[in-house]
Amino acid sequence: MLTIYPIHAFKDNYIWTIHNQQYAVVVDPGTATPVIEYLELEKLQLCAILITHHHSDHTGGNQELLESFDVPAFGPRNEFIPSITHPVREGDQINLHEISLNFTVLDTPGHTQGHIAYYASNPMNILFCGDTLFSCGCGRIFEGSPQQMYQSLQKLSRLPDDTLIYCTHEYTLSNIRFARTVDPENSKLAELEIAARKLRNNIIPTLPTTLMLEKAVNPFLRCDQQEIIDHVKNKTKQSLTDPASIFTALREWKNSY
Ligand SMILES: [Zn+2]
Repeated sequence: MLTIYPIHAFKDNYIWTIHNQQYAVVVDPGTATPVIEYLELEKLQLCAILITHHHSDHTGGNQELLESFDVPAFGPRNEFIPSITHPVREGDQINLHEISLNFTVLDTPGHTQGHIAYYASNPMNILFCGDTLFSCGCGRIFEGSPQQMYQSLQKLSRLPDDTLIYCTHEYTLSNIRFARTVDPENSKLAELEIAARKLRNNIIPTLPTTLMLEKAVNPFLRCDQQEIIDHVKNKTKQSLTDPASIFTALREWKNSY
């Protein structure tokens, strides 16, 4: 029986911890202290570290964890992260036998040039996507091109609908505010806002989300929907038609929102 637990870090980061009551894997440990505290509290033995991209709030605790635990640290082959021991890229398989989980690596450039995500399909469909896809939003494009980010999100959207999506940040409420501006008639989005506000009032994470829900509410996965296209056209006063151009304009709009 696997547990996936969010260790809170910084202002709004989650360091996702996957464990079977004995062994644990942590994803994007931006800081080591809360991870070590959690492992001690739950009497868990760290067996691997997964990193999605080089930003310090995802990697900052890695070196310290490696000094305490002799474990592999997987991370993107296409980025320079000194503390990574096992660089991986698209198509690589990571067999975490201690927790009986097999991850496939997906290249998801856009937020950073070498960003990767980790997907497992057994015993359930789960995705750790770092800062690529958020609930109701997507990551900022720091290093890649809008086209790359669009293709990365399209790749993630082809995963099974029931995939549980574990993003690194709790951005859901602010993302919903923007989404409602560009998709005001979406009743599922209105429902999500009520549910998410209730969770956050009780300091409960709004994550994981599911791909099925994101396809219904996330404007960055809905760039082929007429209502989104109309709102983007209205805003930009340009005759954009293809979904990638709509995505680019939508991302720019969100940057200044
Ligand atoms: Zn980042």
